[in-house]
Amino acid sequence: MKKTQLTIILICVSILSFGQDINYAKYLIDSLSSPSMHGRGYVYKSDFTAAKFIKSEFEKNKILAFNDNYFQFFKLNTNTFPENMLVELDDNELIPGVDYLLASNSPSIKGNFKVEIIDAKILSNKKKFRKFKKKNHSENFILIDTVGLNNPKFKETYDKIKKQNMLKAKGVIFIQDKNLTYVPSQIINTFPLLEIKRESLPKKIKNININADAEYLSDYKTQNIIGYIEGEIDSFIVFTAHYEHIGRMGKDVYFPGANDNASGTAMVLDLAKTIQSRKEKPHYSIAFILFSGEELGLLGSRHYTQNPVFELDKIKILFNLDMVGSGDKGITLVNGKVFKPEFDKLKSINDEKKYLPEVKSRGAAANSDHYFFYEKGITSFFIYTRGEYKEYHNINDKAENLPLNKFEDLERLLLDFIEK
Ligand SMILES: [Zn+2]
Repeated sequence: MKKTQLTIILICVSILSFGQDINYAKYLIDSLSSPSMHGRGYVYKSDFTAAKFIKSEFEKNKILAFNDNYFQFFKLNTNTFPENMLVELDDNELIPGVDYLLASNSPSIKGNFKVEIIDAKILSNKKKFRKFKKKNHSENFILIDTVGLNNPKFKETYDKIKKQNMLKAKGVIFIQDKNLTYVPSQIINTFPLLEIKRESLPKKIKNININADAEYLSDYKTQNIIGYIEGEIDSFIVFTAHYEHIGRMGKDVYFPGANDNASGTAMVLDLAKTIQSRKEKPHYSIAFILFSGEELGLLGSRHYTQNPVFELDKIKILFNLDMVGSGDKGITLVNGKVFKPEFDKLKSINDEKKYLPEVKSRGAAANSDHYFFYEKGITSFFIYTRGEYKEYHNINDKAENLPLNKFEDLERLLLDFIEK
């Protein structure tokens, strides 16, 4: 038998036995985290590009829309960097996303500035610090060297320099010894804040040449995407995930967001396709909601719970999937400790079928889109996978790095659960 024939048979066997299709999920994750999606943020309206893609998948899979519209629009405010992003330290050009990040709340900044360094030596010496503080820094950048500053005695001052610009500098730089992590912002600040990896710093730093264009978007129109499959009864099981991510930082850098949260989006879409392809109608109706605005502070799910397209009390149970691309160490359910009987049921199915190495529970937390449903008294869980994969809010959260080693198992567990 030819290798291709064997592959086709194996794919058919796996589709027939479980109905799911890992290749479909991979196609979705690849598409959503590709350069053409620009990190599914608000630069180039790429949230809308991603939303149109998801809508077309709903249509292909014959998922129904409420009131003839898959989209629910709402508005948000955010700061973005669509264009220039240049940082040079004494003629060494740093690579955005690799060597540094510009804090997402930074304003536009352009020019050549002197860099002044403040470290533990200055901070620990009252006289030296007073002298330093007295100087006029308004045309200079302050670089805070973090070595020795984890001492709680300096923590407050360090935070004041970094977060409030207490030295009234042109801009602030801090050294990152760990991974760079980009967090988007709803507001724009009064000074630029740069985070630079220690190993990317030249030996001596005297000057910074910087050119970054911020564009503040106010009342930007974005959208949640909602579809459903009609069941025997008018009561809903709901699967949710946020599809947008943190977008771009300048012309050259985008954050793919393969794990966060192309993975959860793909699982919701694959669940929809799988359930729709079955002959029998499901017992409960099943809704699929893909949220925008999550990274900026759960904005889409908050809007949805304030403006639901069907009554919230029709929701029997809700599963929010956010970062489900690994799983070699199992899964965790936020609210597992709150909704004990449902958690125990899910865990017992897993114990029997041995899909995942561990199913852990946590208490309530406002850390993803399940939260506002939980606040409204709905039985809701946030599921994430645990494993070796650690890329988070950086340029390496790419489809090709994502293991997806327990993706199908988690989906089987959810399908088994809703069948029971
Ligand atoms: Zn995130």
